[in-house]
Amino acid sequence: MELYELNLFMLTEGLKEKKFSPAEVFESCKNRIDKCEKNIHAFITRTDEIAKSQLNENNSGIFAGIPTVLKDNLCTKGIRTTAASKILGDWKPPYDATAWKDLREAGAILMGKVNMDEFAMGNTCGNSAFGATHNPNDISRVPGGSSGGSAAAVSAGYVPFALGSDTGGSIRQPASYCGVYGLKPTYGMVSRYGLISYGSSLDQIGPFARTIRDLQMLMSVIGQYDPMDSSCFREKNHDFTHSEDVSVKGKKIALVKEFQDFTLDAPIYEAMKRTQKVLEDEGAIITEVSLPTVARYAVACYYALAMSEAHTNLERYDGVRLGYTVKDATGIKEMFERVRSYGFGSEVKSRIIAGTCLTEPSRCEEYYVAATKVRTLIAQEFARAFGEADFILQPVTPSLPPKIGEVDEDELKGYETDLYTLPVNLAGLPGLSFFTGYSDNLPVGLQLIGSRWSDAELLNTGIILERHLGTPKIANGGE
Ligand code: GLN
Repeated sequence: MELYELNLFMLTEGLKEKKFSPAEVFESCKNRIDKCEKNIHAFITRTDEIAKSQLNENNSGIFAGIPTVLKDNLCTKGIRTTAASKILGDWKPPYDATAWKDLREAGAILMGKVNMDEFAMGNTCGNSAFGATHNPNDISRVPGGSSGGSAAAVSAGYVPFALGSDTGGSIRQPASYCGVYGLKPTYGMVSRYGLISYGSSLDQIGPFARTIRDLQMLMSVIGQYDPMDSSCFREKNHDFTHSEDVSVKGKKIALVKEFQDFTLDAPIYEAMKRTQKVLEDEGAIITEVSLPTVARYAVACYYALAMSEAHTNLERYDGVRLGYTVKDATGIKEMFERVRSYGFGSEVKSRIIAGTCLTEPSRCEEYYVAATKVRTLIAQEFARAFGEADFILQPVTPSLPPKIGEVDEDELKGYETDLYTLPVNLAGLPGLSFFTGYSDNLPVGLQLIGSRWSDAELLNTGIILERHLGTPKIANGGE
């Protein structure tokens, strides 16, 4: 077995026991990247030299010598951070995102910054100013998005883990498309400090890895209170310690009644059945909850809020403070126009325009304010559901990853495919995207959702699912 094939836990153990060195792990991962990157195109910026200099630091943290990559909307001090947009130019942030700072201090080695949909808007990783990323399981297909580069890097064996962000599904959907595990933590569990904002009330940083145990290790490092993020808080202490002694006996796992009427492609439908059987065999009780407002209004509510928040968050890219600028404009208006016309891609522009309309004073009550009220109803509906059940089991997407270029040109249809992921962000819940097996060599993922702050229990249930459904293999990376 090559070192790049080892998961995070195995690497930390092997390094501790000095079975191999950090330099050997780095070489193995670097060779894997060199071999497959022409097929996959996961990177925006490679940082091999920074990684090498990190190898010389004397670090005895739990991730000492473990290579990783970060979605390129996570700020890295002195290292170009683009959010996959031209508007940030060659901007080098003056500080590290807290989640990265925590990992760096624990010894993780940065191999680079990876591709995403521009400003995290999209679900294919094709809305990037740096070109599309390919799915390492089948390079003719999308890896999902927006954190497609992070999921692809972990699935191809570039690195044992990566960080991404999830505003409406951007960790869970690419994790499922690429065949890795991805956790969208409870809103407030991981600091958002240093995450380039898209929809601030929805955004959350989270990990990708090839086993649930690895996600537990990562959450124990990044799931920390941070005074730099006022929405980062704690209701209780969270213990992500791994144990094999876990059980779902007597736990109620619910399906959503209203979702039963929606069609699923056969592999997803079969995975739902398989997973229910596993849970039942382990002593769980499969029940049903009703989420009528979610089923009917969550997509519209999410996009109204996400676009409204995005239009405010993206106001700051004006060519004055940071990033791309023009020097020869005749006035401030011309400068703004030229900077923003060139700097933003079309999806981002259309969302800024929609967000401007939705929050414009004469329409604000009717759209933005109405959406905030629907959001409250959605959160209440989930709270009721979690009074009746411990977890909700549902798809991540209704289909397997589409071919690159075959993605529906009708944007609204693309938005609708987020139905199973975005309600989780509206209610601030944790959602786990887990592997269930392969269908014609394509991984099939599903999602388990818990109540707020149930992240640790969610991962414990994930341990049982992984035990029965199997651990994903490293994808062939187009080789
Ligand atoms: N596809 C959704 C959107 O475009 C979610 C993206 C995300 O989670 N960042 O808004």
